[in-house]
Amino acid sequence: MSFTVAIDGPAAAGKGTISKAVAAHFGFAHLDTGLLYRAVGAKVLAGASPIEAARALDPVDLEDDSLRTPAVAQAASEVAVIAQVRDALVDFQRNFAARGQGAVLDGRDIGTVVCPLADAKLFVTASPERRATRRFDELVAKGMDVALDDVIADVKERDARDRNRAASPLVPADDAYMLDTSDLTIDQAIAAAIAIIADRMS
Ligand code: C5P
Repeated sequence: MSFTVAIDGPAAAGKGTISKAVAAHFGFAHLDTGLLYRAVGAKVLAGASPIEAARALDPVDLEDDSLRTPAVAQAASEVAVIAQVRDALVDFQRNFAARGQGAVLDGRDIGTVVCPLADAKLFVTASPERRATRRFDELVAKGMDVALDDVIADVKERDARDRNRAASPLVPADDAYMLDTSDLTIDQAIAAAIAIIADRMS
């Protein structure tokens, strides 16, 4: 029996850091599903067609460091509105969830569409200002030359597109636990997530 944890939420709410820590804590595999959309977005920026790129996606494509740039994030959010792109990526995500003892998947539609029967679901949020500042700090720490105003605009635009699209919009699952990280340190947010999941296990 495999235990599946679905962690969804808007950009830069802390999903990635929380998911990695939760996976390490429970000894589960972790998939950052945003990387799938980023890999497709990167191929589209290089001239590919979105649907063909999604159908031909190779796990090796997820390892490219350039997937973290704001330009690729925007391209990812643009390909993510295409229903056929999403369909092409669902099996990869479900197969990942089914293998091994347990898996943590983070994204936008894991608890609603990809793994609606997940054993534990979290919806991680934070105020738009906190999220944009965190993303800005992350990009600067990676040595990227970005302006805070541009990062705020990018996060807002992607959120609006993710929330308003017809195919698998960003919305909490009815049975998701809402975790607002605005006023939490990262250690507090991780501890809260671990407590919620441990509770679902018992
Ligand atoms: O999570 P990350 O910021 O890397 O995701 C990049 C983009 O990929 C998001 O803005 C969103 O449009 C899309 N995405 C999605 N569904 C997921 C994961 C990411 O639509 N499960």
